[in-house]
Amino acid sequence: MAKQYETVIGLEVHVELATKTKIFCGCSTAFGGAPNTHTCPVCTGMPGSLPVLNKQVVEYAVAVGLATNCTITQYCKFDRKNYFYPDNPQNYQISQLYLPICRNGHVEIETENGKKSVGIHEIHMEEDAGKLIHDEWEDCSLVDYNRSGVPLIEIVSEPDMRSAEEVIAYLEKLRMTIQYLGASDCKLNEGSMRADVNISVREVGAKEFGTRTEMKNLNSFRAIQHAIEGERERQIELLESGKEVIQETRRWDDAKEYSYAMRSKEDAQDYRYFPDPDLVPVFISDEWIAKIKENQPEFREKKMVRYKEEYDIPEYDIGIITDSKHMADIFEETVAICKQPKKVSNWLMGETLRLLKEKSMDPEDILFSPENLAKLIALVDSKAINSSVAKEVFEVMFAQNVDPEKYVEEKGLKTVNDEGALRKTVEEVIAANPQSVEDYRNGKEKAIGFLVGQTMKAMKGKADPGMVNQLLKELL
Ligand code: ADP
Ligand code: ZN
Ligand code: MG
Repeated sequence: MAKQYETVIGLEVHVELATKTKIFCGCSTAFGGAPNTHTCPVCTGMPGSLPVLNKQVVEYAVAVGLATNCTITQYCKFDRKNYFYPDNPQNYQISQLYLPICRNGHVEIETENGKKSVGIHEIHMEEDAGKLIHDEWEDCSLVDYNRSGVPLIEIVSEPDMRSAEEVIAYLEKLRMTIQYLGASDCKLNEGSMRADVNISVREVGAKEFGTRTEMKNLNSFRAIQHAIEGERERQIELLESGKEVIQETRRWDDAKEYSYAMRSKEDAQDYRYFPDPDLVPVFISDEWIAKIKENQPEFREKKMVRYKEEYDIPEYDIGIITDSKHMADIFEETVAICKQPKKVSNWLMGETLRLLKEKSMDPEDILFSPENLAKLIALVDSKAINSSVAKEVFEVMFAQNVDPEKYVEEKGLKTVNDEGALRKTVEEVIAANPQSVEDYRNGKEKAIGFLVGQTMKAMKGKADPGMVNQLLKELL
């Protein structure tokens, strides 16, 4: 019988923190500035410059640690990780090896196979590197230090995952937790969340783990899933043909669906880590931790329970709304204005999800304000616009957060409530469609639908279909 293999996976996840300034200097962390404009002597590694720790970085790291059930290292330190690379101007990265800020945590994940806990080995703080741009035309490489010194936390999991499905559930859980905390926007495609996947295989039942490889360059859930499946196959093939898996770092090429060896795996001793002499150890007091704990938001689990008690909306809606802190905020704020949870939820479940999907956007990217959504709901409630016009207005609001009241006014989209005008149009439609009129009078109920449609068309959609229906019945 063929051998059965089990996949073992552990993740190193880098998250860029949402601070306004860098970890050791006052430069902006804003994405996309002109190259080397967000820089200073500290983040370009000039001799004699000295780092000063950004307090907010510590607070975010502790907040993430508490939310992932870690123990906070109250006396923690920074270490230098030494290596030469042109995107690393100091020739070392300030990171944490010996006393990382958080240790021994775990998060609960849920997949089709049920619930499971994934251990977190540690979370440490470090600085990001600059960015190299390889210009093939000019045959040279350029470096942009805007990203150099942007604060990161690295979340190192235990090798507790066994499938791509579990990995994605774990990443989604981390992302949601961190987004709830406001510590990062966690966008895989923009690099504010990056996952390195360590993977090995072993025969089912084996006690020891197999030799692992580490895969980098994974910037979407899809790439991660493919990389895991591809690498599992590759390792099994090696073992089946009597070869060994070599511990190394590999680069996943999602277009070719194959990974390539990048470099043999380096060990901690290769980096000659030593405590950074320019930075004093950080002492995190009980009071400080208590204060950060107090400021933690209401997380999803609690929110779901409260929604169930507070709002009369289906559990399915609650699940989707609370999946994103941003969507939950919009929901709560809109309901606070218009007091109609089901209607707010309907706009989120229906048109909002549809447009997010159509434009491949995240709920975090929703642009429209609660005030405007509440105004749109009020316009429909007061019959100032009908539901199909409302959908049109919503699309514009979704794209540009326009004020629906103003927009309806400007574009003349208000429903015509003047019965005289409507009656006239209905009469014209009746006169123009004798066949349908006859069909209706002969008992073909459906024919009225066509006449309603014709009237709506003549009114350019700006009529209340209920009223049209009623008038038609009256005049027929
Ligand atoms: P190193 O210090 O050499 O980078 P770590 O012990 O820090 O190694 O592990 C790095 C990551 O690799 C962790 O996320 C861990 O869970 C994962 N890992 C370790 N051993 C294995 C293995 N045999 N198979 C899969 N993942 C592993
Ligand atoms: Zn700087
Ligand atoms: Mg490591």
